[in-house]
Amino acid sequence: MNKLALHGDLLDFEATPAWGDPALHGVRWRPDHWLLIEDGRIAGTLPGREPPGEDWRREEHSGRLLMPGFIDTHVHCPQLDVIASWSPGLLHWLDTYTFPAEQRFADPEVAAAGAGLFLDALLAHGTTSAVVFPTVHAASAEALFAAASARGMRLVAGKVLMDRGAPPALTDDVAGAERDCETLIARWHGQGRNAYAVTVRFAITSTPEQLAMAGRLLARHEGLYLQTHVAENRDEVAEVARLFPEARSYLDVYHRHGLLGPRSVLAHGIWLDDEDRRLLAATGAQIAFCPTSNLFLGSGLFDWQAAMAHGHKVSIATDVGGGTSLSMQRTLAEGYKVQALRGTQLTAWRALHAATRGAAEALGLGAEIGHFDVGATADVVAWDWAHGAAASHRDAVARGAVASLPAQDLHARVFAWMTLADERNVAAAWVAGVPRFERGRMLQNVDIGTALATRPDPRDPQHADGADVRSRHS
Ligand SMILES: [Zn+2]
Repeated sequence: MNKLALHGDLLDFEATPAWGDPALHGVRWRPDHWLLIEDGRIAGTLPGREPPGEDWRREEHSGRLLMPGFIDTHVHCPQLDVIASWSPGLLHWLDTYTFPAEQRFADPEVAAAGAGLFLDALLAHGTTSAVVFPTVHAASAEALFAAASARGMRLVAGKVLMDRGAPPALTDDVAGAERDCETLIARWHGQGRNAYAVTVRFAITSTPEQLAMAGRLLARHEGLYLQTHVAENRDEVAEVARLFPEARSYLDVYHRHGLLGPRSVLAHGIWLDDEDRRLLAATGAQIAFCPTSNLFLGSGLFDWQAAMAHGHKVSIATDVGGGTSLSMQRTLAEGYKVQALRGTQLTAWRALHAATRGAAEALGLGAEIGHFDVGATADVVAWDWAHGAAASHRDAVARGAVASLPAQDLHARVFAWMTLADERNVAAAWVAGVPRFERGRMLQNVDIGTALATRPDPRDPQHADGADVRSRHS
């Protein structure tokens, strides 16, 4: 039995914190605890500094936050090439930067290198699970699943469907796309920690025939996800109305083709009406709120309170490369600002819940990820409370370590951390109890779940066997 004990300040959630309430409802705060991991799963916790028995490998992270790895519910692997590109708006940004960049991923070698770079970057930002768009090319989805398997990461992804409205090198056709999807589903759906998502880019780039095919795939296979974009930008909404005059709304285009269900993840959802929100609630579909992208592209301000009022699910996502950072803290901090512009305040609890347990539950993965319940897969990140002089001072103030200033409550401290932190605060990350990132370098990318052949990372040969956990304790 593989037994690993991590010591630090444990923070996760048992339930959904109430909106606007900094009290500890739903928050599980266990400072100065050991987190016990057996064979890649959470086995329990132990209070205090007294370590568990000699049969446990111990790793000391005292003075650090230990949290479940973040879950990014909407992000584009190939768009690391175009992150931070100047543009007057979504449709220009797609045509000018994104579509040209995505064409490179037709080459399996480019796709493999891009997938590895992307997943290592997620881990380096403290994100251990993601719902990801590759490109239209089957090779790009293949590369992403293979790279996630090599890292043991929970991945939801699928080949992008686009049969119009894009350059010829980025379009497929209905029959060929269906064959590619069937092949990828057979190879990867339910294999290890991979799940397949029928991936409609958006209504503008799929014909009604392709949308119907997507609906057939969802009906044919148990447990598939659906990922797409909806109502991000007003020009886009107008174009969808022109292309689908029979639909009541943009969202209704997807509904008419059988694409909405409890495993449907729709990015943005800014320009929805209440009937759309009722439809999301009735079908169980979720909106992935992408604040850095929505601000960067000037798309609009997501109405989270309207979502709550109608009872549909919301998660938070980076949407890189329309989004400007893979950091979930930066994303949550911008989410706070977007909600502030809407006249309401996101608490650290509600924000962090949405990026961990809330996202897991919205994806139907609440038994596996997003928290430290016994039996959950041990995707864990150790975070420094502060990086740099200003954040260190702010944290000292919150802790009551600055003379003549009283200590603040836990919410104040965690909110300041969430607002000021980013990937520089990541000390280490484990996926299913295996160390995968340590500040300054990636660890071994050895396969743990499938028969996939991978080579140890040549930059880091001493970790190639997966045995060294750099214990500072024993
Ligand atoms: Zn997107």
